[in-house]
Amino acid sequence: MAPQPQHIKRDESYRDSISTVDKDGKRVWVYPKKPSGKFTRWRQWFGYGLLVLLFVGPFIRIGGEPLLMINLVERRFVFFGQVFWPQDFLIFVLGVLTFIIFVALFTVAFGRLFCGWACPQTVFMEMVFRRIEYAIEGDWKQQKALNNGPMTNAKIGKKTLKHVIFFTLSFLIGNLFLMYIIGSDEVFRIVREPMAQHWGGLLAMGVFSGAFYGNFAFFREQACTTVCPYGRLQGVLLDRKSIVIAYDHERGEARGLFRKGEDRSEAGKGDCISCSACVHVCPTGIDIRNGTQLECVNCTACIDACDHMMTSVGLPTGLIRYASEEEITDKKPFRFNSQG
Ligand code: SF4
Ligand code: SF4
Repeated sequence: MAPQPQHIKRDESYRDSISTVDKDGKRVWVYPKKPSGKFTRWRQWFGYGLLVLLFVGPFIRIGGEPLLMINLVERRFVFFGQVFWPQDFLIFVLGVLTFIIFVALFTVAFGRLFCGWACPQTVFMEMVFRRIEYAIEGDWKQQKALNNGPMTNAKIGKKTLKHVIFFTLSFLIGNLFLMYIIGSDEVFRIVREPMAQHWGGLLAMGVFSGAFYGNFAFFREQACTTVCPYGRLQGVLLDRKSIVIAYDHERGEARGLFRKGEDRSEAGKGDCISCSACVHVCPTGIDIRNGTQLECVNCTACIDACDHMMTSVGLPTGLIRYASEEEITDKKPFRFNSQG
């Protein structure tokens, strides 16, 4: 975790619990405000590009072999058209070790860039499922009101529509992932042939679809904060020079509400106007002003929210931005690779 500056006394009680679990150990449902802004737009385009690649991937052939197939059933693995068998395990181990070292070094330098921009969990959750939820149930306040309100016909209609779409999408995603395991030809064969011949394949489709549906409809950010091993390793992978999404505490503190015409420095205030916009948009329910936290998936929503508020009150943007702790504390300019 990034060290906190000496001169600021903070309430550190947030470290004792995670924001999505209450005192009694019950789940606190997160209602993130719909994000908007330049980073959200860029991430949307990038995410949709990745989804296109993911969906066409099983149909791409190199020398007659798939681009990627991890067929655990037949113990046949294909990477970029090259077939590997169990006897090639040594190459596989070397490949995995190289990959693990690459991931560790990449994270030390660039933090959780992967989580925010390319992780399938974030891309599907934020760019697909959450967007559908906003379209059907409205923004965070309407969603909260709907969930806490009585069971009306309108509520039943909205919930049914949402969950039918969620399950249909999960079924498609389940089939897609099955294609990466047994190949697209085999999946289409299972679909075409009589059900009775493929109980195993159907069961696999059902399990995959159910798992994706459960994850995106209910489990959500818990996958990142309580299950993902990569997230839990951040504490040992990040250092003061790693690029993270960070609140500039040097510039933001002391926090204080915005008053028109007031000289904030004369009033002893920093640039944070205590609007909580960064907290409202966070899909994992945290306050980035507390510093780098395990729950932060670097989704950039708080950057956009804060930039919007800064622009509205005529202060410079970038109070929350990509930066290392060293750059913020020592007031250094941003460098893409500050480890170098
Ligand atoms: S703190 Fe900001 S970047 Fe991190 S998860 Fe929350 S909104 Fe996303
Ligand atoms: S959005 Fe920016 S100004 Fe508002 S509370 Fe968060 S850091 Fe402070």
